[in-house]
Amino acid sequence: MKIGAVRGMRDILPEETPLWRHLEAEIRAAFRLYGYREIRTPLLETAELFSRGVGEATDVVHKEMYVFPDKKGLLLALRPEATASVVRAYLEHGLYAKGGLAKLYYFGPMFRYEKPQKGRSRQFHQYGVEALGSLDPALDAEVIDLASYLVERLGLPREGLFLRINSIGCRRDRDRYREALRDFFEPRQAELCSDCRRRLSENPMRILDCKHPTCQPAIQAAPRSTDSLCGECGAHFQEVLAQLERLGLPYELDHTLVRGLDYYTRTVFELASKDLGAQDALLGGGRYDELAEMLGGPPTPGVGFAGGMERLVLVLRERLELELGRELDVYLIPIGEAPEVKRTAAWILAQLRRAGLAADMEYLGRSLRKATQVAARLARYALYLGPDELARGEVKLKDLGTGAESAQAIGAFERPEMLKRMLARG
Ligand code: AMP
Repeated sequence: MKIGAVRGMRDILPEETPLWRHLEAEIRAAFRLYGYREIRTPLLETAELFSRGVGEATDVVHKEMYVFPDKKGLLLALRPEATASVVRAYLEHGLYAKGGLAKLYYFGPMFRYEKPQKGRSRQFHQYGVEALGSLDPALDAEVIDLASYLVERLGLPREGLFLRINSIGCRRDRDRYREALRDFFEPRQAELCSDCRRRLSENPMRILDCKHPTCQPAIQAAPRSTDSLCGECGAHFQEVLAQLERLGLPYELDHTLVRGLDYYTRTVFELASKDLGAQDALLGGGRYDELAEMLGGPPTPGVGFAGGMERLVLVLRERLELELGRELDVYLIPIGEAPEVKRTAAWILAQLRRAGLAADMEYLGRSLRKATQVAARLARYALYLGPDELARGEVKLKDLGTGAESAQAIGAFERPEMLKRMLARG
């Protein structure tokens, strides 16, 4: 029997990896501009990190986490997200003791046992930032500005994007808000789907996430978290919004946005794309001022976001594919089987590579026409070398973009500066 990939886990093939690398490079560059530094944490953590940090009752931990005992019986989890890991690392290495703000970013695979569908897989890749150590609302605004700058930089048109924002307040505000929701939904249970009737006793805030049409009228009429905010949290949110206005970042107040992880406090937001369908969030984040304490550390406010690489790939693939497809500079096509031709071709290849040019050769002996088609898919230039060219001490160079052809001396391949000029990267 043939062995296939695990359901919900996908290979990223060479046709797509240039796009991934391009996106990663652009994202890194944006993060650097905003003063964030990279952190790499392990894929495996103790399951307890997430049950304490993300919340035992959340879907992410309760239903979707990959958990298994190691050989000594310690419960481990494949990380479903990275914020808890970053905060764990921050506490473990005493980064708080170094004072100041820790601005960290990460990339990497995350794992959730979800129902695979468009934009949702079981292994997916996130990029994200975390700013730890300040309550300043300017930092909430900065993180949101970074998110918008990032998607602009990647070339997503502004018209298709929208920023949803809400504030769910501090723990006391949330307790009050949960009560208000319970009081509101309890007499309306008949208007809720069966999942939401269960959520009512577990965590009524989750009802607001429900996409079931039955629940929508009740959800729209439900009390708003912003009405339960204490003075401090209310003022904090007003300042975040004022900063967004000053930055010229349009937003929609979305009272149903509460996000699926327990650690959030105050600001929560999502940047969504109209091109994505049901799973429309490109990235999401918010504040988590109590997470460090939940993990046993000193009080440390934090704010950040995470976005999914797969969703960026979905919206950018067609836009960028043509530009990124050709990874080779030169594709060399030897003509005929003469050993001297083949040896000279191999020598030319070696010279090109040492001159810093990505080069490959037709090894399968396909016809000139076929090999040229392959070259046009993979490279910017084709080089032809047959017995006639060899006798003249020349190769034929073809620009695969313009179709222009010229003869080049084989001797030129000994001189990297000449080669670079010949194949000047346009
Ligand atoms: P979350 O950690 O749930 O707040 O998700 C943050 C972002 O990660 C989302 O906006 C998506 O872009 C991405 N994401 C989350 N879950 C998945 C998944 N199962 N498959 C693909 N992307 C995901």
